[in-house]
Amino acid sequence: MSSTLITNIGELVTNDPDAARNGQSLLGAIPDAALVIEGDQVAWTGRAVDAPQADEQYDAGGRAVLPGFVDSHSHLVFAGDRSEEFAARMTGTPYAAGGIRTTVAATRAATDEQLTSHVARLVGEMRRQGTTTVEIKSGYGLTVRDEARSLAVARQFTEETTFLGAHVVPEGDPGEYVELVTGPMLDAAKGHARWIDVFCERGAFDGDQARAVLAAGAAAGLSGRLHANQLTYGPGVRLAAELGLVAVDHCTYLADEDVEALRDSGTIATLLPGVEFSTKQPYPDARRLVDVGVRVALASDCNPGSCFTSSLPLCIALAVREMGMTPAEAVHAATYVGAQALDRDDVGALTVGKRADLIVLDAPSHVHLAYRPGVPLVAATWVGGRPVA
Ligand SMILES: [Zn+2]
Repeated sequence: MSSTLITNIGELVTNDPDAARNGQSLLGAIPDAALVIEGDQVAWTGRAVDAPQADEQYDAGGRAVLPGFVDSHSHLVFAGDRSEEFAARMTGTPYAAGGIRTTVAATRAATDEQLTSHVARLVGEMRRQGTTTVEIKSGYGLTVRDEARSLAVARQFTEETTFLGAHVVPEGDPGEYVELVTGPMLDAAKGHARWIDVFCERGAFDGDQARAVLAAGAAAGLSGRLHANQLTYGPGVRLAAELGLVAVDHCTYLADEDVEALRDSGTIATLLPGVEFSTKQPYPDARRLVDVGVRVALASDCNPGSCFTSSLPLCIALAVREMGMTPAEAVHAATYVGAQALDRDDVGALTVGKRADLIVLDAPSHVHLAYRPGVPLVAATWVGGRPVA
């Protein structure tokens, strides 16, 4: 097994939970650091002066090294373009859940090859911006055939695939559509999916329908997640907490009882500030959640309608500027907590035994991700101990 020493690291963000517990820093940051990779895993971290020898050496030139971003929420399998809808929204047309149907028509008309090459392009775009693990949802097919093939496409790029047949009711009676989703569509999808998700929102699915879909998914062996409380207050966040889901996503409109439910259940609130940026909506209040002990993750929600960014650096900058997070909290939320939101303990940190998924920043510290918004700071992205971008 070959080994690689990355040395001359100005700041190494490890996300070591022991460092955080000992009151050192949330990010377990080590100045003037080095890191040794053996095979595809981290084998050693510490001060550069103490580093052991390795087969190969990489000089980070005083730059920061961080765990790769873990984007726990994206919708990359689609066709078509909704830039005109975005332009209209910027001049006052409000976002509504029904716009999803525009993308559904284009996705159904696309070939498997077109969908695959489109996902490949977006995953490449994500990697160049430092994302090393991505979750990908279906949800723009909304027929048995189109949901199954969307997930088969997603599976070529990630283990973290999510069946989102309950994205919106495409046509016809909502009750009949829920029966389709929980019956034949789930049967066709479950072999390609790890997770099941529901858009629990006015204009999409109500609490009872979400509960039915999640129950059917659980019976088929899929773990649940939810889109909830994005556009208004609703039952979704409390349902996620009651069911003990690992994460509930959006959490923009939260009543006090929703915050208490998140705190008491341990369910992660995944905030998606690119959505509020791209829909001109108020941002979720991350500070309120962090201050009471709710775990907060940040993800892109990359999708053609409400938020077409693939950039976690942008989400970090927004979380700091608009949502009251510190730069350290935002970076932690986009790496360590993102991994927790996917129930993964092999990624999201650079401690011994973790997969060597990392980014080299063209900057001396993680703070620059928020300090220099819009600047392409990710100089290199490594997955499994090898550069991929
Ligand atoms: Zn979403």
